[in-house]
Amino acid sequence: MEKPEVRPPRILIVDDLSFMRTVIKEILNDHGFTLAGEAQNGAEGWKAYTILRPDAVLMDITMPVMNGLESLKRIRYFDPDACVVMCSALGEQEYILRAIRYGARDFIVKPFRPERIVSALRIALRIDE
Ligand SMILES: [Mg+2]
Repeated sequence: MEKPEVRPPRILIVDDLSFMRTVIKEILNDHGFTLAGEAQNGAEGWKAYTILRPDAVLMDITMPVMNGLESLKRIRYFDPDACVVMCSALGEQEYILRAIRYGARDFIVKPFRPERIVSALRIALRIDE
């Protein structure tokens, strides 16, 4: 019997730096994920989430217009099951507790190794490897 085809998880990237989005996109590409979309601030990210309904979000914290914590809060209000992994710069660890309280699944500190992104997504999405 043929195995059912597994749909690659669709990930939304929210980060104000296009360089960082590119780095993350390459990691996703190399590890069996697919890009649901990308956004460059928390407001765009929140809106994109409601339209695209990705399987998971990789969310920066410091961004113009709306930061990642506010965006996380709104996304989780819209979808209490939303799977959001925070991806913050060094020195922003003070936000970890708030992010967890708002329902973030994990908190990755930049600069990160690709495996950190991959394992955080796999655990958050309950993908066995
Ligand atoms: Mg940023």
